[in-house]
Amino acid sequence: MKPFRYDRAGDISGAVATLAGERAGVFLAGGTNLVDLMKLGVVEPDVVVDVRRLTSAEIEDLPDGGLRIGAAVTNSDLAADRRIRYRYPVLSQALLSGASGQLRNLATTGGNLLQRTRCVYFYDTTTPCNKREPGTGCSALEGCNNDHAILGASGQCIATHPSDMAVAMTVLDAVVRTRGPGAEREIPITELYRLPGQEPQRDTTLEHAELITAVDLPPLAFSSNSRYRKVRERASYAFALVSVAAAMQVRDGVVRDVRIALGFRAAAEAELADAAPLRENGYKVPLARNAMTRTLLDLSGER
Ligand code: SF4
Repeated sequence: MKPFRYDRAGDISGAVATLAGERAGVFLAGGTNLVDLMKLGVVEPDVVVDVRRLTSAEIEDLPDGGLRIGAAVTNSDLAADRRIRYRYPVLSQALLSGASGQLRNLATTGGNLLQRTRCVYFYDTTTPCNKREPGTGCSALEGCNNDHAILGASGQCIATHPSDMAVAMTVLDAVVRTRGPGAEREIPITELYRLPGQEPQRDTTLEHAELITAVDLPPLAFSSNSRYRKVRERASYAFALVSVAAAMQVRDGVVRDVRIALGFRAAAEAELADAAPLRENGYKVPLARNAMTRTLLDLSGER
């Protein structure tokens, strides 16, 4: 691993200021993805700024009936919180479907949102990868692409985002709160992630040194009737081939409101018409359609 400087700032402002002055610096929270990337030489920072103890590890009730989740809340604590389990079950289910118990005990809310793709070429520094090294090419386009995107991809990158939690938060209209060198921001989660386009190295709309401090969940009439369905190659500890987060409001036997988010890109079934499957991932089109249908039938009480 390339040597780096470890810095533990006293407060959020100090952490942001330190990183703002270091182009090749990164924030460290739980480290469950970042440390692997550093060991493999995929990410080689000069400075690592530890923010684990700077942001809140609490889940607070908001006056409007929603919840504020501190960025340092672990995935385990978030999944187990009684308010999350009863008012936002899709989020608890998504968290418990991701990683292992040990990883969830360490991984944080902020870090989970910012984890990197699990495309195998991204982690293999002997192969071309535009996300890791812009301009080198995309090995997955003609290579092993069975778990890559069928929606939202570009000629530069066809990677998916691996966060189960982000899919659930998308259906819940979550808002990501940040502190950057300039100001604080509130970013709807649908505006946090960006498609690869011509700049696949940029996963999100965050600026350099902009730190996630919390995530707000608004009060929603339908969120207690919500579900997460993850289709994967084995029953535990695997990333999703397709995942669906859905919520439905049913009153007097009539569906009043429906929300759906797909694991690779927020979408309704109609968007599958735009799917562009590659040699090895065409199976995802019927898989996504079936997973959506099954999840909505579950929520409506139909079998
Ligand atoms: Fe790299 Fe994206 Fe291509 Fe994977 S799909 S090799 S992450 S550019």
